[in-house]
Amino acid sequence: MIRLEQVGVTYPDAAEPALAGVDLHIPEGELCLLAGPSGTGKSTLLGTVSGLVPHFTGGTLHGRVLVDGRDTRSHRPRDLADVVGSVGQDPAAHFVTDTVEDELAYGMESLGTPPEVMRRRVEETLDLLGLAELRDRPLGTLSGGQQQRVAIGSVLTVHPRVLVLDEPTSALDPAAAEEVLAVLQRLVHDLGTTVLMAEHRLERVVQYADRVVLLPGRGQPPVVGEPAEVMAV
Ligand code: ADP
Ligand code: ADP
Repeated sequence: MIRLEQVGVTYPDAAEPALAGVDLHIPEGELCLLAGPSGTGKSTLLGTVSGLVPHFTGGTLHGRVLVDGRDTRSHRPRDLADVVGSVGQDPAAHFVTDTVEDELAYGMESLGTPPEVMRRRVEETLDLLGLAELRDRPLGTLSGGQQQRVAIGSVLTVHPRVLVLDEPTSALDPAAAEEVLAVLQRLVHDLGTTVLMAEHRLERVVQYADRVVLLPGRGQPPVVGEPAEVMAV
């Protein structure tokens, strides 16, 4: 579902590439944890999958990134909205509307989805993420875990096959982190969505992962395996 072939990224003025020679395959319907110390290229790798790199950063992308067979370099991210949805590190900073319901509808509105499909998908997503009772709430009054779920919901309404998330639980307390992880696990198991999630604090999330990709840094290739295998490295 996600395939990287000899992927490298170099940012302008950087002495060394942020990623180099990465080959990786993540099958459909898995929850994959992208791990590794700070600065080893986790956000950059997610960016190549979502198309943020090279479309919205100054970075130069080498090699090829295919998501559901589509090359992320040759499409604008919004043209891949039904293939890959992406939630960044501080999603609340990117909210564009005032209430939970409006925020869930916004992404579809900008893609021109017909109103009756929009209404159905907002309802379905409110239910899926346990947000139905919060639908009219101003976004600023939500807890961190609730905000993270709204951010996830706002990309899920277009039914992406792949969801990428950058540190979705690192700013959350343990209970809120569990809420979010339970939602991600349900997406994978019930809908067959492929989830790729970066975290640098592993202890909380590794039990939810089907696979771990560890970026060791210093130009070393990623280590890929089942959680227990990789954690033993
Ligand atoms: P991680 O997510 O593992 O912390 P990043 O992908 O954020 O790693 O960063 C990898 C390297 O690329 C770091 O050296 C970082 O400083 C650099 N970097 C990340 N984003 C940019 C950018 N937009 N411009 C220049 N350098 C960047
Ligand atoms: P449409 O709006 O295209 O008629 P529906 O909203 O009725 O589609 O949903 C179609 C199918 O997609 C349903 O079987 C539903 O379970 C499934 N589905 C719901 N949410 C998601 C999601 N986030 N990603 C993928 N499939 C989903």
